[in-house]
Amino acid sequence: MKHTLIIAALLSAGVVHAATGPEFDAKRLSQDVKVLSSDKFEGRGPNTAGETLTVDYLVQQFKAAGLQPGGDPVKGKPGERSWTQDVPLGRFEIKGPVALSVRDAKGTHALKQGDDLAVRASMSGSKLVDFKDAPLVFVGYGVTAPERKWDDFKGVDLKGKLAVVLINDPDFETGQGEFGGKSMTYYGRWTYKFEEMARRGALGTIIVHETAPASYGWATVKNSNTNVMYDIVRKNPAEAHAPVEAWIQRDLAADLFKRGGQDFEALKKLAQTRDFKPVQLKDVTLSGKYAVDAQVITSKNVAARVVGASRPDDTVIYSGHWDHLGVGLPDAKGDKIYNGAVDNGTGLAAMLELARAYGKAPKPARSVLFLAVTAEEKGLLGSEYYASYPLYPLATTVGVINMDALSPYGVSRNFTISGSAKLDLLDQLVAKARQWNLAYSPDPKPEAGYFFRSDHFPFAKRGVPAFSYGSGNDWVDGGIAAGKKNEQAYTTDNYHQPSDEWSAKWQFTGMAHDLGMLYSLGRDLADGKSWPNWASDAEFRAARDKSAADRK
Ligand SMILES: [Zn+2]
Repeated sequence: MKHTLIIAALLSAGVVHAATGPEFDAKRLSQDVKVLSSDKFEGRGPNTAGETLTVDYLVQQFKAAGLQPGGDPVKGKPGERSWTQDVPLGRFEIKGPVALSVRDAKGTHALKQGDDLAVRASMSGSKLVDFKDAPLVFVGYGVTAPERKWDDFKGVDLKGKLAVVLINDPDFETGQGEFGGKSMTYYGRWTYKFEEMARRGALGTIIVHETAPASYGWATVKNSNTNVMYDIVRKNPAEAHAPVEAWIQRDLAADLFKRGGQDFEALKKLAQTRDFKPVQLKDVTLSGKYAVDAQVITSKNVAARVVGASRPDDTVIYSGHWDHLGVGLPDAKGDKIYNGAVDNGTGLAAMLELARAYGKAPKPARSVLFLAVTAEEKGLLGSEYYASYPLYPLATTVGVINMDALSPYGVSRNFTISGSAKLDLLDQLVAKARQWNLAYSPDPKPEAGYFFRSDHFPFAKRGVPAFSYGSGNDWVDGGIAAGKKNEQAYTTDNYHQPSDEWSAKWQFTGMAHDLGMLYSLGRDLADGKSWPNWASDAEFRAARDKSAADRK
C-alpha cells in the first residue's frame, strides 16, 4: 500500500480513482493459484478428471462472486444459460511405439521419439501412419507470401515427400527484410508451416528446431508435441493436416543434410533470399510407423457474466485459458504432472479476483464476460471455438483483455502485451497505466511471435480489439536486472515443464497492483459507449470495419 501513497503523492486528479478502486487481494490470488495448480488437478488436461475439478472450482468461485451463468443456452428453458460452453474437440494419441529410422548410404539407423524427433499424433484422419524411405526436401522457411513476392516452393511437388522447414521467417536472422525484421509475422509460426504443407499435399512437415528463432528450447518442443493432440472438429481434416507433423533437433538435421551432400548453414543463408529453391537430400530418407487413436471429446469453456444495466448486448471480455499440459513425460526428477501454476493458474486467479470486484461494484452499463477457455496449449482451440461460435456477437464485443502467465512476484514499474499491435485499446491502457505508475514496455522479443500465441488472437484476427496483458520486468525491488533474470530462469527451468509449481515464496503483490489498472480499463469500456478500433493501417482493421453498422 506504500506504493499507492507514492502514486498519490506524484499525481493529481486521476489518482482518486486508483486509490479508491476495488482492492485486489494477494493472498486470495495465491490461494487460487495454489488450488488450481495442485497435483490433485493433474495439470488441468482437457477431458480429464482435472478438467472437471477445474471447471467446478471456477464455477463455484464465479457463483460466490455473484455473477450469472453466461454459457450455452439451457435446452428447454428459454432465457436460461449454463456456466459453460461445450467445445467439441478431436483427440489424437499415438498408441504403442513410434518406429522411426533414417536410411543413408551406409545403412539404416533407428531414431528415438522425443529425443531425436518429436512426432505429433496425426490429426489428418489416418489411424496408422506408415511411410517407407520418404524423400526429405528442404523448403527453406516454407513461405508462400504473394503480397511480399516471396515463394520458397518454386513449384516443387511434395506428394509422398517430407518437407524439412526452418522455424520463424526469412529475415529473423538478418534482422531486416520483407518480414518485419526481428518481429515475427504469421509466416514464422509453426502452425503456419504445418498448414502450408497440408495445403501443398505433402506427406508431412519436419520443422528444424533452433532455440533462438523458436524462442524456446527442445524440452518445450518435446513436451508440447509428444503428448495427446487436439484439434477443433473438422469436416475434412486432411485439408488442415498432413499425415506427418514433427520437429527435429537442429544438430541431427544438420547431420542428415551432411549425409545428404548438403551444408545446413549454407542452405539456411540461401533460404533467406528470394532466389532460394527447394533441395532434396541425396540418398537420405526417413521411415516411420505408428498407430493413432482418434476420438471426439467434449471439453468446456467456462463463461460467467455480469449483465449490463443499460447496454446489456454490448460485451467486454476478460479471458484466460484454464488448461495446461496435464500428465506427460516425466522430468529428470520423475515428476509427470505439468501443474501450470504460472501458466495459467495466475491468469485464472486474476480473472476470479476481477470477477469478485465486478460482483461487488454497481452494475456497469455494458455486460462483462469472464471467459476461461480450454485447450490453449493445444493451439488456442477453446478461444478459436468461442470466436467461431460466439455466445455473444463479436460485432458488439467491445474488446478482449486476455491474461496468460502473469508474474506471481512483487510490484513492477512497467507492463507489456504479447507481441505488437496498433490498437486504440492499447493506447487507452497505456494512458491508464500512468495512474498505476506503470510504464508500457513494448514486447522486447517481437521475434517470438507472441501476438499469435495467446487467446486474444482468434478474436483479433476476426477484427475484435484484443490484447494479452503481460506483467512487467522492471521490479520496484531489484529493478530490471532482477526481473529479467527471473524471466530467463522461468523460460529455461519452468516453462511447459512439471516444475511450473506454486511457491509459498510468491508474493502476488504485483498482480494485485496491476489488476487495479485492468479493472479500471474494463470498467471504463463497460460504463461508456465507445468502440475502440485498430489503427487504420493495422492488418485486422478491415475485418472490424465490416461489422461497423452493428455498433451503435
Ligand atoms: Zn498460457
